[in-house]
Amino acid sequence: MKNNKWEFNGYIAIYKPDHKRAIKSGGSVGYVYEHHIIAELMLGRELREDEIVHHFNFNPLDNRIQNLMVMPQSQHMKLHRLLDYFKMEDLIKEHATEGHHVYQCNNCFKYLLKDKDFCGRDCKADYKINNKKDKPSKAELKNMVENMQLVEIANQYNVQRKNVKQWMDEYRIS
Ligand SMILES: [Zn+2]
Ligand SMILES: [Zn+2]
Repeated sequence: MKNNKWEFNGYIAIYKPDHKRAIKSGGSVGYVYEHHIIAELMLGRELREDEIVHHFNFNPLDNRIQNLMVMPQSQHMKLHRLLDYFKMEDLIKEHATEGHHVYQCNNCFKYLLKDKDFCGRDCKADYKINNKKDKPSKAELKNMVENMQLVEIANQYNVQRKNVKQWMDEYRIS
């Protein structure tokens, strides 16, 4: 599964053709706005037709949970009229925190509500298998052993300390 994101109409969209809000026609068929998906995750239900996802800091690309608010379309219009009236946009932008990082599983790219690397143990295991680096050469390992802790080497290769020790035995590195 690929993390197929792109920018569409000034928003981030992701390919999810089965989603209720997937775009039905034009060049972006099958894409859903990322902020809709994340808002639904926050709510624990589908967005209603009349609901809008508002970006607090006026940055439509910032889909962090803390930047999104779901509200009825009528209220959303009122909110923007109010913010316009008091010329709040610049002030809000000025004080907005920077960042676009949304939480996603590194393996299946499912969106997550918390800052975790994986949605579960299976994805973590899958990821480790798929991203396992090859065993280092003797020279590489020797160099690493001199400069790094075993646990650091193990982490880099997604293996355990005992595997690094095995390699050292094989290469006769002490
Ligand atoms: Zn808005
Ligand atoms: Zn996952």
